[in-house]
Amino acid sequence: MRSGPPVASYIVSDHVFRAPKGTRDILWPDSARWRNLVEVFSEVVGSAGYLEVIPPMFEHVEVFQRLGEATDVVRKEMYSFEDKGGRTIALRPEQTASVVRAFAEHRPALPYKAWYAGPNFRYERAQKGRFRQFEQVGVEVLGPTDPHLDAEVIALGWRFYERLGLRRVTLLVNSLGSAEDRVRYVEALRTHFTVDQDALSEESRVTLEANPLRVLDSQREADAPLIAAAPRMLDHLSADAEAHFAGVTEALDAIEVPYTISPRLVRGLDYYVRTTFEFAAEALDAAQNAVGGGGRYDGLAADLGAPETPGVGFALGVDRTLLACDAEGVFDAPAAAVDVFVVDVTGGDEAVVLTDLIRVDGLRADRAWDGRSMKAQMKAADRSAAALAVIVGEDEKAAGTVIVRDLRGDSGQETVTRDQMIQTLRTRLR
Ligand code: AMP
Repeated sequence: MRSGPPVASYIVSDHVFRAPKGTRDILWPDSARWRNLVEVFSEVVGSAGYLEVIPPMFEHVEVFQRLGEATDVVRKEMYSFEDKGGRTIALRPEQTASVVRAFAEHRPALPYKAWYAGPNFRYERAQKGRFRQFEQVGVEVLGPTDPHLDAEVIALGWRFYERLGLRRVTLLVNSLGSAEDRVRYVEALRTHFTVDQDALSEESRVTLEANPLRVLDSQREADAPLIAAAPRMLDHLSADAEAHFAGVTEALDAIEVPYTISPRLVRGLDYYVRTTFEFAAEALDAAQNAVGGGGRYDGLAADLGAPETPGVGFALGVDRTLLACDAEGVFDAPAAAVDVFVVDVTGGDEAVVLTDLIRVDGLRADRAWDGRSMKAQMKAADRSAAALAVIVGEDEKAAGTVIVRDLRGDSGQETVTRDQMIQTLRTRLR
C-alpha cells in the first residue's frame, strides 16, 4: 500500500506568483533586443573612449542623499532599508551618484570617461513607461569644464538614438548657470512663486519650501500659468555661464546636432549646474516621453569626498527608449534564436555531434528532443525560425552525409558530406 501523504498535498499552493508591481519579466525576443541596445550603446560611447564601470546596485543611503533632499527620487521614492549589520542601505535610484562615489573612492586619472548600464529602483506610481525597476545606460565624465565636452556628451546621446533608427527624438537644452547664478535665480523664483503661492497646487507649495527650482518641473495644470510667467534662468546667467552655454550650443551647431533651447528645463535632480538637457521621444505620450537626460554637476564629486572635480553626464532610459522604438517601428527584435536546426531521425545521437560541430564553428544551432517524429521535428524547426535545417536519416548516417534544407527562402536542399557541411551552411546563411 502507498504510504505518505496524498499527492495533492505536495502542491504547496495553487497561487500563481506575479512579478512585484512596477517590475516585469523581459522574455525573449525582447531580452535579445535589450541586450542589442546595450551593445549599440557600448559601441557608440566606446568609439569616444568611454570605459565601462559596474558600480554596486546598492550604496550607503548618504550617497544618494547628496543628490538633494528636495528631489522626489530621494525624499519619496528610495528603496532604503537597514541591513543585518545595522547599516542604512539604499537600492540605487540612479547611477550618477554611484559612479561619482566610485570616482571619489578610486581617483582614476583625469579625464575619467565612464559608461554604465544597469537597473535602478524607484518607488514610483507604476504605469506604462514608468517602472519601479527600470534600466538606464549612461555616461559620466569627470575632470574638464570645457563646454565642448558637454557637447560631446550630448552628441553621444543623439548619435545613439540615430544608430537605433529613431527619427522623432528632440533635444532640449538649457543652462542653469553657475552655482552662484543658481542661488540668485532660486531666490528670484522664490519671490515670484511666493507672491502668488495660493495659486499653486498643494504639492508645489511644499516643493517651493524645499526648492523653488523644482516647481518649474511640475506637470500639474494648476501650476502652469505661474510657471509660464516665471523669470527665465537664461536671463540670470553670469557672463561666464553664458559663454559656457554659447560654447556648448556652437559645438552642437558645428556637428549639426539639432536642439531647442528650453528655458524651463531644470530636470529632476538637484545637482545640476550650467548645462542641462533632455531627449524627448515625440512618438510617445507627452507624460512619459522623456527618454533620457543629463547635465553638468560640478559640485557632486566634492560632496562625495573627492577634491573639487567638475562632471557632466547623462542617463538614458532603456525601457522607454525601446517603447519609442516600438512606436517608430525601428530596432526590431531578432526573428530567430538560432541559424540552424538539426533534425535527426536516427534516434538523436547524430544531433548530439552535429549541433556541437556547428556551435563550435560559431553558428547557432538547436535541435529537437525525445526522439520525435520527422514531422514533429520539422515543425519545431519552423517554430525556431532558423534559416536552415540539417537533416539526417538512416541513409545519410550510413553515407556520412547530411541534407541542408532552406527553411525560409526558395533555394531548396542539397546533400553534402559532413566535411562540407559547415562551409555549405555558411555560404547559404550569407
Ligand atoms: P532621470 O534619472 O530621472 O533623469 O531619468 C533619466 C531617464 O531614465 C528618463 O528620461 C527615463 O527615460 C528613464 N526613467 C527614469 N525613471 C524611470 C522609471 N521609473 N521608469 C522607466 N524609466 C525611467
